[in-house]
Amino acid sequence: MGIEKEIRAKAEEYRDYSAKVLSELVKIKSYSTEEEAVCRKIKEMCEEAGFDEVYFDGLGSVVGRVGNGSKILAFDAHIDTVTVGDPAAWEKDPFSGEIDDVHIWGRGTSDQKGGAAAMITAGRILKELGYDKDYSVYFTFTVMEEDCDGMCWKYLIEEEKLVPDLAVSTEPTSCRLYRGHRGRMEMMVKLRGVSSHGSAPERGVSAAYKASRAALAMEKLNDALQPDEEKFLGKGTIVVSEMKVNGPSQCAVPDQAMLYLDRRLTWGEDAELAISQVKEYITEALGEAPESVTMPNYTRKGWKKTDYGQELYFPTWKIDEDHKLVQAGVAGYKDLFGKEPVVDKWTFSTNGVSICGRHKIPMIGFGPGDEKEAHAPNEKTRVEDLVICSAFYAMLPYKL
Ligand SMILES: [Zn+2]
Repeated sequence: MGIEKEIRAKAEEYRDYSAKVLSELVKIKSYSTEEEAVCRKIKEMCEEAGFDEVYFDGLGSVVGRVGNGSKILAFDAHIDTVTVGDPAAWEKDPFSGEIDDVHIWGRGTSDQKGGAAAMITAGRILKELGYDKDYSVYFTFTVMEEDCDGMCWKYLIEEEKLVPDLAVSTEPTSCRLYRGHRGRMEMMVKLRGVSSHGSAPERGVSAAYKASRAALAMEKLNDALQPDEEKFLGKGTIVVSEMKVNGPSQCAVPDQAMLYLDRRLTWGEDAELAISQVKEYITEALGEAPESVTMPNYTRKGWKKTDYGQELYFPTWKIDEDHKLVQAGVAGYKDLFGKEPVVDKWTFSTNGVSICGRHKIPMIGFGPGDEKEAHAPNEKTRVEDLVICSAFYAMLPYKL
């Protein structure tokens, strides 16, 4: 029997197991920075599945390994989730992990504990096949992604020195093969005016009016942004997501203003460019430069209380369609399922901002569940997707 037939049979045999693993993971609430319980459960599950090594890194992510090859292929799933939002919007308990004929239900089924479950099954399959090829296969179950995408991988690469040659994100792709997404960053603009008594506004300079003009300048900047050359990732965007105005009292001309900006970056756009554009457009609108345009830092501590942070900058990434990793993915998919996969991109952001965006490690995406389910009420994932993904993950290292 060819390896692809063997893998497909095993993934099918483990259909209920994969669904059960996902259900168990969904039952354990794991909001960002509060992932300890789910991490301990995953470590236990990987050990039970026969992984060669399983440990926690310094930030709290779970790292599992199968195989002893000199090169490294890493599969990544973040195992934190966003909150449930309005509980009244849910038809079922978001933490029930209910399994029916088609779906597993609950917060994190799509984004993205489904990927984690399929990875555990894939590790089990590789062990049963006696996998011993050139690539050590690492399975990382990472923390705090919803809060600060990529920071967990910045830590793995820069602090733990786990530097893969190739990587796969298992965020939801509806079992399509993805090869990039736009980057993003957050910016804070500060503007200053001159306060005066509310009865005599002509003596002051209103920071509120400056902020309004600056906000409209951002609208203009958004309209001027252009798509990438390949027209693959589309155009970047800029949004004013928050505005604050302060002064000595509510009966005074305000002298301080803050604009918070969400910027999505297409291919060829980086932090330096984005900051200079903001300065340019605001300077043109106000006739003077803003007091400052900065990137804020992420500073929350994870469950291990490790002191670690980064600026809120998440670089754009993509790899070419003819890259050997994309080609191996396409070939593995064809061997398993007898047809070509759809090759596309994500709309949202993933740990790829660090793995490929910051650290230039080639990455693809392939994951169970639909992107549109992410962060939505009544989140669900198909059991079938777990079968497809566990087979794909077990197959890929044989195609490299
Ligand atoms: Zn996600």
